[in-house]
Amino acid sequence: PGRSTVQVGADSGVPPVTIGPGTFALIAGPCAVESLDQTLEAAAMAKAAGAALLRGGAFKPRTSPQEFQGLGKAGLRILAEAREATGMPVVTEVIDPSDVGLVSTYADMLQVGARNMQNYALLQAVGAAGRPVLLKRGIQATVEEWLMAAEYVAQRGNLDIVLCERGIRTFETSTRTTLDISAVPVVQRLSHLPVIVDPTHSAGRRELVLPLARSAIAVGADGILVDVHADPDNALCEGQQALAGADVRELASALRRLVPAT
Ligand code: PEP
Repeated sequence: PGRSTVQVGADSGVPPVTIGPGTFALIAGPCAVESLDQTLEAAAMAKAAGAALLRGGAFKPRTSPQEFQGLGKAGLRILAEAREATGMPVVTEVIDPSDVGLVSTYADMLQVGARNMQNYALLQAVGAAGRPVLLKRGIQATVEEWLMAAEYVAQRGNLDIVLCERGIRTFETSTRTTLDISAVPVVQRLSHLPVIVDPTHSAGRRELVLPLARSAIAVGADGILVDVHADPDNALCEGQQALAGADVRELASALRRLVPAT
């Protein structure tokens, strides 16, 4: 199929960003929004690395209910401030269909996370929200199931969908999930939608992020999504996978070297 592009941030007051063929999008930011200062620091790191979009979770779907669940609406406000400060449109996760309206008033792109890829009520709600959608692959989903999830969004009239490969569960335990890098060319043969790779949440370990990011570029992904944090040792969410100072600079220089000029 011919390949589509997705525009993000068209009405955000900051320059919109295009994801898809002809560009390579770096999406970066903290796993979770913890405070204004922490988010602004991470956003500055993301921007310095060449990020087009700022990510950050205000509603966090954590495996344990004892873990930090995110700041909710206060986190959305912080993200909007960070957009003002940096000029980067914002992508953030929505986990409950009843929050789609709220999240849409603050965010430029709605993320549906791996755990919710087959939450059909949520997919329909984001499909009707009039915002571009970042649809992560569920850890137990086949490519076909993932594309059908996208179909639920599209059926509500929203074709601005970016797919994100973020690893699947296999017998392998050395990484959190196994990055299915082959999904990128497979999806590109089956779908016109842009497809990006998340080396951070798939591996769950910062030292694997750069090599997996390189593989995403090599295989023709339309971008990558990575966690960054100024002080990962004290992060409230998944500090072990966040890139900090020198790692972010190394990623930025790898992107400059490896991403084909457009
Ligand atoms: C995230 O991107 O913040 C996240 C929770 O990722 P995933 O849904 O891929 O686990």
